[in-house]
Amino acid sequence: MKLRIGIGHDLHPLAEGRPFLLAGVRLPFAKGELGHSDGDVLAHAVADALLGAAALGDIGELFPPADPAWKDADSMDLLRNVWERVRSGGWDLVNLDCVVICEGPKILPHREEIRRALAAALDVETGAVFVKGKTAEALGPLGEGLAVGADAVCLLEKI
Ligand SMILES: [Zn+2]
Repeated sequence: MKLRIGIGHDLHPLAEGRPFLLAGVRLPFAKGELGHSDGDVLAHAVADALLGAAALGDIGELFPPADPAWKDADSMDLLRNVWERVRSGGWDLVNLDCVVICEGPKILPHREEIRRALAAALDVETGAVFVKGKTAEALGPLGEGLAVGADAVCLLEKI
């Protein structure tokens, strides 16, 4: 059995008047991610983990921020596009584990919805996807509520 592990990391500043999106799920909050696309920090970290595991590049390379085609893009479309590329390379997703780091909003009340959204986009059971929230203990830009970060790790299996 051939296995590959991948890691993804992302960070976006938070700004008023923007939706706070995690895997396409909108969390009620005064601020949201600033970015060329919709800024969905979790969708980006997951996409990079999948691409990294399959050695197929990274999202900055495949979807350049300078390309107007990706302005205000739905990052879940981008994630589905990435998963098609990875799956076409003969890979199945064994599991995905993620951390979202922010002072607010609380992730736990929305965790199951976020897990279901990721599982649906990647065509796996919800049990293969996990997401947890962490604060930065009031330290640094994440702790001051100026930004939101996400880390993702995935395991792929060759089919
Ligand atoms: Zn991003």
